Amino acid sequence: MIGCDCAVCRSDDPRDKRFRTSIYLSFDDGARVLVDTTPDLRSQALQHGIRRVDAILLTHAHADHLMGLDDVRRFNHLSGQPVPIYGSAATLDVVRRIFSYAFEPGASRGGGVPAIDLTPVDGPFEAAGHEVVPVPIDHGRWPIFGYRIGRFAYLTDCSAIPETSMPLLADLDVVVLDALRHRPHPTHFALGQAIAAAERIGARATYFTHMAHELGHAVTTAGLPAGMSLAWDGLDVEIG
Ligand SMILES: [Zn+2]
Ligand SMILES: [Zn+2]
Ligand SMILES: [Zn+2]
Repeated sequence: MIGCDCAVCRSDDPRDKRFRTSIYLSFDDGARVLVDTTPDLRSQALQHGIRRVDAILLTHAHADHLMGLDDVRRFNHLSGQPVPIYGSAATLDVVRRIFSYAFEPGASRGGGVPAIDLTPVDGPFEAAGHEVVPVPIDHGRWPIFGYRIGRFAYLTDCSAIPETSMPLLADLDVVVLDALRHRPHPTHFALGQAIAAAERIGARATYFTHMAHELGHAVTTAGLPAGMSLAWDGLDVEIG
């Protein structure tokens, strides 16, 4: 955190050095799907050697998940293709407003502006040839999307999982869940709530994400139930 001298912010553990929350899915057929375009997207792509994005899934339109979208220009240049973007209609409305310059007639797509094609979704769809199931979750009072792909689900920025979404989370190998800090928060799971949700979901492995600086990696992970861990930047998880 800017201007903080706490033990986690001063930690030498690389797992305590966190960019904004995002994941990158690599499929055996070569497809690459990015979930969210954080303000750190450029640094994340450089650090982790990301050079291909076939589709983007947006969970919601908060700035920490969206504001790196302009950097998609580089992926357009590398592939020669626009990038399809999927999200709720409400999320994509915000994209159209905030990145209005990318949609102006005569905008030089693929050069000065990102070339993106927006597709609103509210049920299962295909991204880069793979089935994706939106999982409605609550982010405070705001309904947003997690996503399920096969036996993997990604639920960031979550303060509650509606009962109607629980069937979408059956039979998971791996789930990623929001866990902000120890104290309650209006729009994110606290760690105890995240553990309780993980137990209800019952995936083989659970990784927590979107941690704030109250949750140091080593000390927090040491106190978690079996099969649960804090994620970290650069963590690779193989599924299926
Ligand atoms: Zn701190
Ligand atoms: Zn958010
Ligand atoms: Zn967030």
